[in-house]
Amino acid sequence: MESNNGTPDSISSVIPGWFSEISPMWPGEAHSLKVEKILFQGKSDYQNVMVFQSSTYGKVLVLDGVIQLTERDECAYQEMIAHLPLSSIPNPKKVLVIGGGDGGVLREVSRHASVEKIDICEIDKMVVDVSKEYFPNVAVGYDDPRVSLHIGDGVAFLKAVPEGTYDAVIVDSSDPIGPAQELFEKPFFESVAKALRPGGVVCTQAESIWLHMHIIEDIVANCRQTFKGSVNYAWTTVPTYPSGVIGFMLCSTEGPTVDFKHPINPIDADDSHVKTNGPLKFYNSEIHSAAFCLPSFARKVIDQK
Ligand code: SAM
Repeated sequence: MESNNGTPDSISSVIPGWFSEISPMWPGEAHSLKVEKILFQGKSDYQNVMVFQSSTYGKVLVLDGVIQLTERDECAYQEMIAHLPLSSIPNPKKVLVIGGGDGGVLREVSRHASVEKIDICEIDKMVVDVSKEYFPNVAVGYDDPRVSLHIGDGVAFLKAVPEGTYDAVIVDSSDPIGPAQELFEKPFFESVAKALRPGGVVCTQAESIWLHMHIIEDIVANCRQTFKGSVNYAWTTVPTYPSGVIGFMLCSTEGPTVDFKHPINPIDADDSHVKTNGPLKFYNSEIHSAAFCLPSFARKVIDQK
């Protein structure tokens, strides 16, 4: 079986009673989680959506057979993709999230008191509805009055955004197969750069250095051509992502210099506002800086050293 789309047969055909994440994006390997109970299965206009109760990672959200988040380790991804960019610029006010329909990035962006407006453009309303029902501690991000939800394609949304609108854009997308494919291509990055103010920042999901160096190489090349500020790659550990790691491209537009590696706007974990939606579980300023330290094989490609 070359790929699965999250149908029950991906539950039983590999190891009965286990979900195995088989995909052409990571041939020859598959992370498996023991399934206690399937809680939801549906097919939207864009993808298969499934939620199951796992025995060790809490509830799990799966889109087209690919694990998007688990209750146990989603903090690592959501906190890093939000705070790596927002802690790198002073007083972010207007933030756009592309994708991120589960609401986790919204929960993290809302920890920043300087933020006045949070737009989110998610293509699939089923993801929003399912997250609100099964992942309330993740979808809590939608409760913030600064949030405006737009259901639609992020590519089209950005094309309509006036130049220089946002301080930060966070692209919390699924993988470059299916509806997210265009979110990894140069025209999209160009529309992001146009939507950002001078010295504005973008952070985008940028796959795994163990599995996708070829994809990362293309993303880095596109970003270097598009963003005239700084272009950096950071990474973190998420046990239930393929190879156990995920990366992020962090870029800034021409204008005030952004040094992503040294957070100038750190969030204080003890600040009551920061803890509104629960404490930070993963991100801190030390792990922020460490996230930009790359193994030599990756640095050679990414820094073109
Ligand atoms: N935030 C999750 C996590 O913790 O890892 C994973 C990512 S989130 C579920 C990915 C979202 O991107 C999905 O909800 C998917 O529907 C959305 N998406 C994919 N392509 C899109 C597009 N072109 N425009 C807007 N949203 C898109």
